[in-house]
Formats: sequence, C-alpha cells, structure tokens
Amino acid sequence: MTNSSARLLIVGPQGSGKGTQGVRVASALRIPVVSTGDIFRANIKEGTELGQKVTAILDAGDLVPDELTSEIVRDRLSQDDAQGGFLLDGYPRNTAQVAHLDEYLSGRGVALDAVLLLDVPRPESIARLRQRALEQGRSDDTEETIARRLDIYEQETAPILEVYGQRGIVDHIDGVGSLNEVTERIAAALSARGVLATA
Ligand code: AMP
Repeated sequence: MTNSSARLLIVGPQGSGKGTQGVRVASALRIPVVSTGDIFRANIKEGTELGQKVTAILDAGDLVPDELTSEIVRDRLSQDDAQGGFLLDGYPRNTAQVAHLDEYLSGRGVALDAVLLLDVPRPESIARLRQRALEQGRSDDTEETIARRLDIYEQETAPILEVYGQRGIVDHIDGVGSLNEVTERIAAALSARGVLATA
C-alpha cells in the first residue's frame, strides 16, 4: 500500500474495532491517526489542564463540548505531519463538529476523501466492550457507560453519515470478522476510490 495524501475518517460504534483498524490503515498509508479519545486520555493521564477539564465527562460517557474538541483537532491538523494526509478517529462525532471540520478543511482547500463506516451490530459491540473492560480496565468501559456511549453514537453520530453520504464519500465496511479480514475490506474500499494502491 502506498501513500497518496489520504484524508480519511473512520466511524463506528465503540467496540467496532475502529481504533485498531485506523492504526493499521494509517500506518500503511504513512499518515498520522488523529484520535480525539486518545488525545483526551493522554491528557488525563498526564494531569494537564485539559485532562482535568474532561475527566468527569469521559468517565460519564458524555461528549466533550464541541468547541473545545474542534479546537484541539484544528491544532493537531495544523501540525506538519498532518499536511500530507491524516486519519481521523472519533471526530467529528456530531453534525456541529462536521461543520467545524468543513470550515477548517475548506479554508485550506482540502476535503475528506473517504469516510469508512465500520458496521458492527450492537450486541457484538457490547460483547467486545465487556471483553475490553476485562482486559484493559478502561474507566469508561463500565456497563452503564457502554450503553450510554452506544446510545450517543446512535443518536448523534449516525446523522453525520447522512451528511457525508450525500457527498458520496461513505464506504460501508462489514466490521464482523477477523482483524485481517476487516483490514482487507477497508483496503479494497479505498482502492476502489483510488485512495489506496496495493504495493
Ligand atoms: P473514544 O475513544 O473515541 O471512544 O472516545 C472516548 C471519549 O472521549 C468519549 O466517550 C467522549 O467522552 C470523548 N470524545 C472523544 N471524541 C470526541 C468528540 N469528537 N467529541 C466529544 N467528545 C469526544
């Protein structure tokens, strides 16, 4: 797979494997992953001012305010390593954030090339999140927040797919299967768009 300045977004319910798949695809394309969840968790771990602001929000499974999240993403996308492309994971998560991202990207004369939607049925997501809770002990992987985060995903994130769907850039990827199977499906979808060439 070769680099072709791809600007990508990966979307899927929690437990869909989007984090893992995003890292795989981005490293094949040599573009950075910009994961808002990872940025927040790193700040919480380091005890920064941002971390202190968002700890309770993440623990409750709620969304960090849009303005704050968008500002963090703009800063990250302005860095040198993101000029040749990037893979967004977990942002935008609602239509307000889509508008913020649109404004930022169009100001730079670029746009998203593809939105990868990992389709995983809710019971499967829940089962995977329970497993992750056992293995990694993430503080937001409790029964209550798992349900809350999946509800928020369905209510707020699904509508962004309508917006991107109208632009014809959404690729539905079946997220059930082995890691390699899902990666291959993503590679095939990107190939079909001319975004990803198989080396
Ligand atoms: P994730 O790792 O993507 O599941 O994100 C973990 C948590 O970080 C979410 O439950 C939210 O509290 C917060 N978060 C991540 N991305 C966003 C976003 N785009 N907007 C608001 N909050 C976010």
